[in-house]
Amino acid sequence: MLIHGESFKFGFVTPEKTFLVQKFAKLKFPQYSLIGYSVGGEETVVQVPEMNVCFDAGRCPQFALTSDFMLISHAHMDHIAGLGYYFSQRHFQGLKPGTVLLPWQMEKPVDDLLKAWQQVERQQTPYQLVPMSPGQDYVVRRDFLIRAVPTHHGSASLGYILVNVREKLRPEYLQLAGEQLAELRRQGVDIQYRLEVPLIAYLGDTSYGEIFEHPDVLRAQVLLCECTFFDCTHRAKAKAGKHLHVEEFAKVVEKSQNQAIVVLHVSRRTGIGRSKAILRKYLTPEKMSKVHFLMDFSDSREAGDVEENTPPAQ
Ligand SMILES: [Zn+2]
Ligand SMILES: [Zn+2]
Repeated sequence: MLIHGESFKFGFVTPEKTFLVQKFAKLKFPQYSLIGYSVGGEETVVQVPEMNVCFDAGRCPQFALTSDFMLISHAHMDHIAGLGYYFSQRHFQGLKPGTVLLPWQMEKPVDDLLKAWQQVERQQTPYQLVPMSPGQDYVVRRDFLIRAVPTHHGSASLGYILVNVREKLRPEYLQLAGEQLAELRRQGVDIQYRLEVPLIAYLGDTSYGEIFEHPDVLRAQVLLCECTFFDCTHRAKAKAGKHLHVEEFAKVVEKSQNQAIVVLHVSRRTGIGRSKAILRKYLTPEKMSKVHFLMDFSDSREAGDVEENTPPAQ
């Protein structure tokens, strides 16, 4: 799979200086692209513009506003801080409310939060929350559904699979002419079968567990997977925070059938350059070639360095 990576910056420009506020990543796959930002504990937001979907809200950067579907993995602030802003800004800009899928346990507290924002802002910002349970499908179109899958990051955490649904003719009818097929249809014969193609799997934050045996996760064309900790001294931290350590992530890559795996949520402590070097010790060059770090900015001072946010001058 040919993948092209780039980044773009968001900042203030004055006659004297450019103040870099945040730098986002862009990864281009043949059929879709990822735009996002993901640093563990700080912010995670990954948009797939072609699918009209954004995984988690992060602090809701401008690009995230354009996705009609926002899929929330869990309640930690680095993933949902921008939710109120998402609805409010979409309303302000005349966009339709947007649909937010989230673990069902979060529906009530998030609803309370959004109602509180309505009072604070003194406006009836419309919003739509869809509570999701593990295994539940949300049908967007006949050929596209979003499937929630259970992850291991505390009581209320979900991953999401973007699934392409196709109706295919059963092999035994492939040789028949159109008229014959029409006749079978009239007789009520089910001549088609349903083919599901998992395109993108996003797991939010998760520790190692059963989810990595899920057929959609194993087979998705692109797997977006966290790996927060890489240093051997960080094993306990990974376990305590219910995150993946590089040793577990390497197991994920070993058995994956994905065409590409995108690493998210790398801790700032380790940084992308070192993380890549450590991961390389666990994988064959062939396996390593399908792993991409979202925040690997090729034009950074050191490959993968996340640039410091510079506050604008007062
Ligand atoms: Zn997180
Ligand atoms: Zn988390």
